Amino acid sequence: MPGFVADLDGETLRCLVEALSESGQAISIYDSNDRLRYANKTYQDLFLGDFEGPFTFSEILRYGARNGTGVRIDDDVEALIARTLPRRRSVPRKSFVTDFVDGRWFWMDHTILPNGWVLTVGADITALKHDERTLRQAHDAALLASRTDVLTGLPNRRYILEILDERLRVSKHEDAGLCIALIDIDWFKSINDRYGHEVGDAVLQHFSSVCRERLRPDVSVGRTGGEEFLVLLPSVSLEAAVRTVDHFRADFPPVRIDGSAIDLAYTFSAGLTEALPQDTRNGILQRADRALYAAKADGRNRTRAR
Ligand code: GH3
Ligand code: MG
Ligand code: MG
Repeated sequence: MPGFVADLDGETLRCLVEALSESGQAISIYDSNDRLRYANKTYQDLFLGDFEGPFTFSEILRYGARNGTGVRIDDDVEALIARTLPRRRSVPRKSFVTDFVDGRWFWMDHTILPNGWVLTVGADITALKHDERTLRQAHDAALLASRTDVLTGLPNRRYILEILDERLRVSKHEDAGLCIALIDIDWFKSINDRYGHEVGDAVLQHFSSVCRERLRPDVSVGRTGGEEFLVLLPSVSLEAAVRTVDHFRADFPPVRIDGSAIDLAYTFSAGLTEALPQDTRNGILQRADRALYAAKADGRNRTRAR
C-alpha cells in the first residue's frame, strides 16, 4: 500500500474523514456510475449548495447551471456534460484549472481509483490568479507606456520604427507595396518663440489628433522627434501615397489657441518614398529624409518624393 498506514481501523478512518471534511481543499469521490459518494465541506460549498439530489455528476452540474452557481459554463450545460462525461476516465490522472461563477479558481487533481471511482482534490488558486492578472495588467500598462509618446499619445520613435521593421518584412514577404512619409512641421521654432512652448505643444497635439481623425486606420503615425512624424502607408503606390498626403494637407484645419480667439494656421512639409525590395530601415528613412529636405528647400508646405 502506498503511503503509511499503521492500521486502517475505525478510529483512523473517522479521523481521516474529519480531517478531509475541514480541509480547505475541495475533495470528492464519485463511484463508477458517477454518483457522488463523498464530498467535503469545501466541495459541497462549491458545487452543492442546498441541492437535494439526485447526486450524480450530471445532475450536480445541471443544478449549478440552473442556480447560477458552481463552475462557470461558457456554453450550454448539456454540451459541457456531453463533452466531459466520456472523458472522465480517459486517463488515470489529470489536472486542470476550473473557474467558478463566484469568482474562485481551483486547481483540480483528478485520480481514477482501481475500482473506477474518481477522486478529485481541488486547491483554491484564486489569489494566485489575481496576482497573475495584476502582474499582466501592470506588464501591459508598462509596455504601452514604453511605446507611447507622452505629449501626443502617438507611438513613440522606438515603437513606430519597430512597426516600420515589421511592415518592411511584410511588404517583402507578400510583395505588397509600402510607402513612408516623413513629416516635419514648418517654422515650428518660430511658433514656440512667438506664442510660447505651451502653444507649440498644443500644435503637436493638434497635428496628432488630425492624423488620427483623417488618416485611414491602416495608416500608422508615430512621433519620431520634436516636430517630426513618421507615417506608414501600406499597400499603396508612391503616386497614391503622394495624393493621400496632399489631400491631408489641402484642407488642414488651424488650431484654436486655448483661452484666446486666435486660430493659428500652420503648415508641414513631407518627404515620401516607396519601399524597395532590398530596403533596410535606415535606407528607406534616408531617402524619405532627403525628400523631406527637398520639400523644405523648395519652400516648405509641400510634398516631395524620392
Ligand atoms: P523648419 O521649417 O526648417 O522645420 O524649421 P523649424 O523651426 O520647424 O525647425 P527647427 O528644427 O529649427 O526647430 C524645431 C523646434 O522644435 C526646436 C525645438 O525647441 C522645438 N521642440 C522640440 N520638441 C518640442 C516639444 O516637445 N514641444 C515644443 N513646444 N517644442 C519642441
Ligand atoms: Mg520643423
Ligand atoms: Mg524638425
